[in-house]
Amino acid sequence: DPRLQAITEAIRVVPDFPKPGIMFQDITTLLLDPKAFKDTVDIFVDRYRDMDISVVAGVEARGFFFGPSIALAIGAKFVPLRKPRKLPGEKISEYYVLEYGTDVLEMHVGAVQPGERALVIDDLVATGGTLSAAIRLLERAGAEVVECACVVGVPEMIKGSCILNGKSLYILVEP
Ligand code: 5GP
Repeated sequence: DPRLQAITEAIRVVPDFPKPGIMFQDITTLLLDPKAFKDTVDIFVDRYRDMDISVVAGVEARGFFFGPSIALAIGAKFVPLRKPRKLPGEKISEYYVLEYGTDVLEMHVGAVQPGERALVIDDLVATGGTLSAAIRLLERAGAEVVECACVVGVPEMIKGSCILNGKSLYILVEP
């Protein structure tokens, strides 16, 4: 796809952020390029529009940049998967392991109905730990996770499909 080159080039790489040795993939510069931003959303929309998906679940915070546009275009609801202490209503929580320590994602009870077909979206997948917590939240609510999608996938970090409980992963570009 000829659009992928421009998408790759629109993502800024920031060395040593947030700490030494990390090459941070900064997708805020993709958002500054209306053509590359729209192409990114369009590629996802073309892939998912006929897959009978009724839920797009976005991971806080950078999944929120892409998820709502995709949801509106394919006629699905958008469900935010949030960091702790953000959601006001009754919620369920899933822990996941980070390089140092753990973090939590939460989802409102009742946002998703049993049997709904869901897409999970985030900006970047590294180990897959964040996406697997997102999958667990949706499956606890009875939804079927059709696929996880990210703009960037770090190939050497993705520990195979087992980490995503066998769910398929769709990535647009590699750093
Ligand atoms: P994982 O759980 O797959 O190891 O890490 C993915 C999560 O960390 C995503 O929510 C993603 O936003 C964040 N993340 C880790 N490294 C980067 C990076 O280099 N750039 C961006 N934009 N996000 C990152």
